[in-house]
Amino acid sequence: MLPQLFRHRWMDAEIEAFREQVRRYVARELAPHLGQWRDQGFIPRDVWRPFGAVGMLLPELPEEWGGAGATLAHQLVVQDELARAEVPGNTSVHSIVARYLLDYGTPEQKSRWLPRLAKGEFLAAIALTEPDCGSDLKALTTRARKEDSTYVIDGSKTFITNGYSANLIVVAARTGEAGSRGVSLFVLETEHLPGFRVGRRLEKLGQHASDTAELFFDGVKVPADQLLGGIEGRGFAQLMSQLPYERLLIAVPAAAVIERALELTVAYTKERRAFGQALAEFQNTRFQLAECATLAHVVRSFVNDCIQRLVDGTLDDEAAYMAKWWCTEQQGKVTDECLQLFGGSGYMAEMPIARLYADARVQRIYGGTTEIMKDLIARRLFS
Ligand SMILES: Cc1cc2nc3c(=O)[nH]c(=O)nc-3n(C[C@H](O)[C@H](O)[C@H](O)COP(=O)(O)OP(=O)(O)OC[C@H]3O[C@@H](n4cnc5c(N)ncnc54)[C@H](O)[C@@H]3O)c2cc1C
Repeated sequence: MLPQLFRHRWMDAEIEAFREQVRRYVARELAPHLGQWRDQGFIPRDVWRPFGAVGMLLPELPEEWGGAGATLAHQLVVQDELARAEVPGNTSVHSIVARYLLDYGTPEQKSRWLPRLAKGEFLAAIALTEPDCGSDLKALTTRARKEDSTYVIDGSKTFITNGYSANLIVVAARTGEAGSRGVSLFVLETEHLPGFRVGRRLEKLGQHASDTAELFFDGVKVPADQLLGGIEGRGFAQLMSQLPYERLLIAVPAAAVIERALELTVAYTKERRAFGQALAEFQNTRFQLAECATLAHVVRSFVNDCIQRLVDGTLDDEAAYMAKWWCTEQQGKVTDECLQLFGGSGYMAEMPIARLYADARVQRIYGGTTEIMKDLIARRLFS
């Protein structure tokens, strides 16, 4: 339905074959369970083991660490296909954690965790946000106090994706002075960890199959060798370094959802009749969908271009901020306009368009809000 897009170098025959495999796997093994996962509020961790076994969990990891030695574009293709099938992208935080370990882990940390992340034996989460700080992360108050060869962690986190289902959690905690330089990252194996507790699994407006939880740390003892990279105070820099990739992990699913919403709405408006004609025959419907198709095309072109630059190592932070805020805002706009064309049916929870609309809302909030993205872009403009 969409016009042929310019094909970047990363979109070669091999990656297209991989996309096809992922699409088939998702349709066969994951999508049929979505209803149950939405009802229960989480995807069981074990689901990701076979996903790891077929090389779809962390294809981008080097072979020596259990991956397929592919590119980050492969992971983005996985996220694209999951989003298209409405499977929440819980594995994107898993991929981010693997990046932290790969880039900053000591050799022991890499060999301890990376192969088990690739296999899906561990499911990862990232715990940054606290009840009193989200956008302003450098104000975090969870503390890690050094006692001989251990750190003792006290504090709490909230809104953590995979917080309920994960068993390997990267936690940001303060080891030093106020501000960003006093922050460190710790890698915690959380099963049966004394002092660690998962609080409420939070009820959300959308993304019901994805668990989002509170976490509590009450005198949690962590061996010092679980400080990421082994040097205190590097946490903030470690978090910042992966941001361009993390923004694309949100922008790419935005493109997928826009296309899916358009596809659903074109099909519906061809069938549904009012005043003796198909909705698709009203000029308003045609113009609205023409606008949505244009947005779909521009969003996809932009993210494809960003992926090429990511693969080439030339993606600048600003382009990634732009992709995050702009693509997710278009996702909100398109899912809203498409829902309108479904009339009352569009508001019914059983309709995919209603879920796409509800699920889209948080895309403008997590991973850095639209306002924070604009602030970061503006800072560069005026620097
Ligand atoms: C479903 C879901 C999943 C999440 N997953 C995770 C996760 O896995 N790990 C994790 O650590 N966190 C996670 N988060 C938290 C998320 O990253 C934060 O909610 C987000 O960064 C915003 O922080 P906040 O909620 O504290 O809002 P606040 O920082 O309180 O912001 C409130 C409003 O003020 C605006 N604002 C704040 N500062 C500025 C400024 N300087 N200029 C202009 N406007 C500003 C914001 O844009 C926003 O509109 C998740 C959140 C949700 C809802």
